[in-house]
Amino acid sequence: MRTSLFFKQQRLRRIFRILVFPLLFTFITQPLAYAQYSNLPTLGDTARGELSPLMEYKIGVEIMRRIQMDPDYIEDEVISEYLNNIGHKLVNATPDVRGETGNDFHFFALRDQTLNAFALPGGFIGVHTGLLLAAQSESELASVLSHEIGHVSQRHIARMIGNQKQDMLIPIAALVLAAIAGAAKQTDAAGALVMGGQGLAVQKQLNFNRDAEREADRVGFLILKNAGFDTNGMVLFFERLQRANRHYGEGFSAYLRTHPLTSERIADVEARVRSESYRQHADSPDFYYVRIRAELLQDESAKGMETAAANFQEMIKIGSRLPASAGYYGQALLALKQNDTMKAASLLQEAKKLVGDKAAQASLALISTSIDIKIAGRQPAEAAREALTALSRFPASRALSHRYAGALYHAGNYDGAAQYLRKQAQLYRSDPMVHGMLAKVYGAQEKIALMHIELAESYSLSGGLSAALEQLSLARQAPDVTFYDHSIIDAKEREWQAQRLEEMQGK
Ligand SMILES: [Zn+2]
Repeated sequence: MRTSLFFKQQRLRRIFRILVFPLLFTFITQPLAYAQYSNLPTLGDTARGELSPLMEYKIGVEIMRRIQMDPDYIEDEVISEYLNNIGHKLVNATPDVRGETGNDFHFFALRDQTLNAFALPGGFIGVHTGLLLAAQSESELASVLSHEIGHVSQRHIARMIGNQKQDMLIPIAALVLAAIAGAAKQTDAAGALVMGGQGLAVQKQLNFNRDAEREADRVGFLILKNAGFDTNGMVLFFERLQRANRHYGEGFSAYLRTHPLTSERIADVEARVRSESYRQHADSPDFYYVRIRAELLQDESAKGMETAAANFQEMIKIGSRLPASAGYYGQALLALKQNDTMKAASLLQEAKKLVGDKAAQASLALISTSIDIKIAGRQPAEAAREALTALSRFPASRALSHRYAGALYHAGNYDGAAQYLRKQAQLYRSDPMVHGMLAKVYGAQEKIALMHIELAESYSLSGGLSAALEQLSLARQAPDVTFYDHSIIDAKEREWQAQRLEEMQGK
């Protein structure tokens, strides 16, 4: 389901798809093994011809810009916030993985039913909804994230890309995307994207990654353990992958093709698990709720909804406390989707009752949905109050921040919404949603030039440079454009045109 009742991101996406070359991307980077390292961490070594961390990050950002344009990129803040919370818990428990430059990590989800996860240059880690649904515990999910963090921290990708010159930045991004697509699909169509001999070289190397896999397992295991998860989750998930492979064939569990799972790898991890004392890890309720959201997003067709509804019914009937609560949560989301807010509210109440007040107050999923129901049920003032209270407990939550602004907007408090969003835009510079909402508020206030400027910001942050530039020229023509606006427009136009030029040269 769409979390943003406020901003029609779907239409935005359609615009992107028309304007911008859609890229094949939903696949995996192939880390390559060049050397074996026994210690954590292995830092980038420019003398050996690795990519500098800054260059790696720039390439990652460029790839992410393209990924965000894909309709299968999941914008649900509750899901991405959950993934980032777990991911950062892992990273923070083993700070060495950030490397000497203190790199940050970003986690995101993609709508895809195959079991897969992947790391991009620069610490961007993607997870398919299929994998999210297949994981049966938080420790299993965390084990996959840890392994991918391991690839990033060991700079497998940086070593793969090697020492390219600055002007090769965009071609490299295209190359990585092509390698990703080629690795997963192994078709000529994907191969055609690969550029020249260089691409061929990358593809050849893709087959030699056993050492990198072993290293990512070893580092991943440490990361998982340090963060207090049950390390057996890694073994359990390996087994799950193998079973999926047997039942559905190779295409289904792409993870195995891109991270070859040898019996040696499994034995290695099993031996490590045995050497540790058992550690129980209690799953958070949000692990269940987030997977419900992913299930509804994965297949939005009528049939998909039907299957989900039957599944929720089953969870309530036979599930223990948490799965049953998740079943009610799913039913609440379905009712909200049908705009039956009364029914949604009472089902959400059932979900809350099963986990208890304390857990309910700690659940971003439950709170977010409660606010969504109030906004949809035309109780924006109550929604704003609830969001504000929750924000005092989760001050950095994007999901809550967006909902608070949305509630203010729906309550007709445009000045309050604009003031809040402007502050948010300063705090979270790369959040396209904040600018999109601000545009909507300015629209309501009939501030036309400002509306177009904010729309431009929003498009540029989600990867649509052409659409962004178009908005700038609309801003320039607006009847209320000021001298001050003009200077902002000029500066942004110069910046984005240069960026677009870079992008075009890359193709
Ligand atoms: Zn791997």
